[in-house]
Amino acid sequence: MTSYSNNPPIWAIVPASGVGERMRSSVPKQYLKLGDKTIIEHTLDRLLSFDGIIGVILVLRADDSDWPGLNYQSEKPVLTTTGGEERKHSVFNGLLKLKELDLNDPYALVHDAVRPLVTHKDLACLVKAATNHEAGALLALPISDTIKKQDEQGNSNKSIEREGLWRAFTPQLFRASLLHKALDYVLQNNLKITDDAAAIEALGMKPKLVSCSAENIKLTNPEDLSLAEQILSRQSARVDGSTRN
Ligand code: C5P
Repeated sequence: MTSYSNNPPIWAIVPASGVGERMRSSVPKQYLKLGDKTIIEHTLDRLLSFDGIIGVILVLRADDSDWPGLNYQSEKPVLTTTGGEERKHSVFNGLLKLKELDLNDPYALVHDAVRPLVTHKDLACLVKAATNHEAGALLALPISDTIKKQDEQGNSNKSIEREGLWRAFTPQLFRASLLHKALDYVLQNNLKITDDAAAIEALGMKPKLVSCSAENIKLTNPEDLSLAEQILSRQSARVDGSTRN
């Protein structure tokens, strides 16, 4: 097993307070089944079985009634806190919970609850990049499609040069103090962001882009579930185990 014991402690913050309207399901999407367990259990298992991660802070909706019923068990700590109106508020609340632990500036690895297919190989690449880069790092994938900008009627108005464009994924890894400062700035100035790297960018810093597997999908729409099932069985069939490649 790879050891990252020389690196500073990493705590994962998992925002799981979304309503998941696009999934058109009565159950919040992280509680839908993927194979033999729920999406959120897959996500937590992947993170907690990675050596470098000390524990998880799970950010739940105030009215979440599904989490206690899972009776999730782990040898590493899984702490919970309450989410906010938008993702940025939920991540910030996770950081406040981390601060209560009074650790010596740990790393915060933010990962969407609905990305259960991240591999240990990609986690290791991310840790290596983030611990060598002042502004942290994020998993991402270069764009391979042609990108269009629509006009007000929904017609293709313009083609965007795709050279140098990336799709930003999670996990994203930063010093907790830096991410705290960045999200505080975003919240104070009411900036619109959809990931944590955007908060760091708002401070004028440039997180490292780390190319990752396209299998690390975010489960958003109903059809994503069958794709995720296929990826999961492909990962399980690999020689050295589902999460490590
Ligand atoms: O809505 P989106 O798909 O971007 O959500 C990404 C992640 O952020 C999900 O895991 C979702 O549960 C979480 N989220 C949150 N608090 C919100 C909105 C989304 O924790 N208010």
